[in-house]
Amino acid sequence: PGPQLPHDPSKKNVVVVGSGWGSTAFLKNLDTSEYNVTVISPRNFFLFTPLLPSVAVGTIAPNSILQPIRYLTRHKDRKITVIEAEAKSVDPIAKTITFADETEVQGEVSSTTIPFDYLIYAVGAETQTFGIPGVKEHACFMKEIQDAEKFKRRFMDCIESAGFPGQREEEIERLLHMVVVGGGPTGIEVSGELHDFLEDDLKFWYPELAQKIKITLIEALPSVLPMFSRELIDYTVSTFKESKIDILTGTMVKEVKEKTVVLQMPDKTIKEVPVGMVVWAGGNKARGVSIDLMSRLVDAQKNKRGITVDDHLRMAGTDGTIFAVGDCTSTQYAPTAQVASQQGAYIARMFKQLAKRDALLEQIMTVQKEGGSTESLEKQLTKVENLRPFHYSHQGSLAYIGSEKAIADLEFFHHKFSSGGVATFLFWRSAYMSTLFSLRNRVLVSTDWLKVKLFGRDLVRD
Ligand code: FAD
Ligand code: NAD
Repeated sequence: PGPQLPHDPSKKNVVVVGSGWGSTAFLKNLDTSEYNVTVISPRNFFLFTPLLPSVAVGTIAPNSILQPIRYLTRHKDRKITVIEAEAKSVDPIAKTITFADETEVQGEVSSTTIPFDYLIYAVGAETQTFGIPGVKEHACFMKEIQDAEKFKRRFMDCIESAGFPGQREEEIERLLHMVVVGGGPTGIEVSGELHDFLEDDLKFWYPELAQKIKITLIEALPSVLPMFSRELIDYTVSTFKESKIDILTGTMVKEVKEKTVVLQMPDKTIKEVPVGMVVWAGGNKARGVSIDLMSRLVDAQKNKRGITVDDHLRMAGTDGTIFAVGDCTSTQYAPTAQVASQQGAYIARMFKQLAKRDALLEQIMTVQKEGGSTESLEKQLTKVENLRPFHYSHQGSLAYIGSEKAIADLEFFHHKFSSGGVATFLFWRSAYMSTLFSLRNRVLVSTDWLKVKLFGRDLVRD
């Protein structure tokens, strides 16, 4: 007994771990006729992360940016097995993966181990908290769909509680103080979306409270958005100033408490600030399962940030059977969807070549056993074995900064362009509309945008 693998003993078993940007790009581009493919992921859907901050304020409904992974796998030539489970450990020597069903409802069997010939490891990363006290207990993250839903609930809760009769003025101010930690693109987009919610909807529905809502963005480094050009950083800072979003740079959050955040100010003094809600967007760190995998190959895996890979995305220290892509790796590239999806697509193309190589190797062995000449087969093998390294093509960086304005650092034919404003916002929308996973997602997201224009954002706190 065990999972029903689409087993054809003549084909190699490929196990794909994760259902995010890297994995889905691999699956979309893979010729499944060559392999037995199994996908293991604790969520049975793909999440379109760029629009997650829009879900947090109710501009977009959660379901509009999700797509069941089976939507992709059912269209492939050969059946792909999808298992909703969390990878617990990978043994790179025995070439096995152990995974478990960790959902509320479990059957008699909820944990098992299966072998693989190739592993596509794309589990992403988790949010970096640097072990700062209180972050996990009191802050909201912005990584998974549940985080956006929790954000919306908490935010509306703060507003409704501030409106409770008899609330003291200082308590109202505390409840309506929203602190976003991290001046990377996630923190900037969350702040921008919060501002829109405030301006477009809350000022109308909660006129007396809305004017007291305060948004503060805290960044430890001297500047926000270090990956963008100076011009666009300045544009973002001035837009935030107009939007009355306070940016505190050079300021480090040292602790998050139930009702306050403890800050280390640029002059190193400590300040405790009352808050209603803290959103933590402090960057990425490797998942536990990745740290465990790296610890099994200590000599080759020395970078704690993520898995070290070679220029063909093969995990260093393995015999070329484990490939790692996306946010779980530590490479020269930024951990973005763009990088993860190009890496996934690259491996799928390489697998076409690997299938040819594996078939030739088998033929050579058979011919050798029969005592025949393998010369021409070996020539073909040399050609097939010449695999091209991964090459990343940067299409540019885009971010939404609120007030129907976006910023973009783009590259066309090796020329760089920077732009910010309303036209860039329209470009931002159309770029994401075209990269959404499916026609269903496109229809749902455009309907959500239209609904918000007509009726405003949903204020319901479920
Ligand atoms: P993910 O997409 O995170 O996928 C990881 C997958 O692994 C998930 O399916 C997860 O469920 C699964 N998984 C986790 N643990 C396990 C386990 N133990 N076993 C099996 N499976 C597991 N990038 C851009 O380029 N442009 C943007 O506009 C942009 N906007 C973003 C907005 C937000 C709010 C966030 C959080 C990120 C954004 N990013 C953006 C970054 C982008 O989302 C990531 O770089 C991208 O998701 C990385 O892809 P991945 O496949 O490595 O990981
Ligand atoms: P990030 O790593 O880009 O930024 C996190 C920020 O938090 C850092 O600047 C860090 O200095 C700050 N920080 C950490 N701890 C702090 C503390 N205690 N006090 C104050 N500041 C603290 O993280 P992100 O914004 O989540 O982005 C992660 C990745 O996803 C990046 O590669 C990013 O490019 C990508 N992303 C891209 C987009 C986009 O293209 N629109 C949107 C979101 C995320």
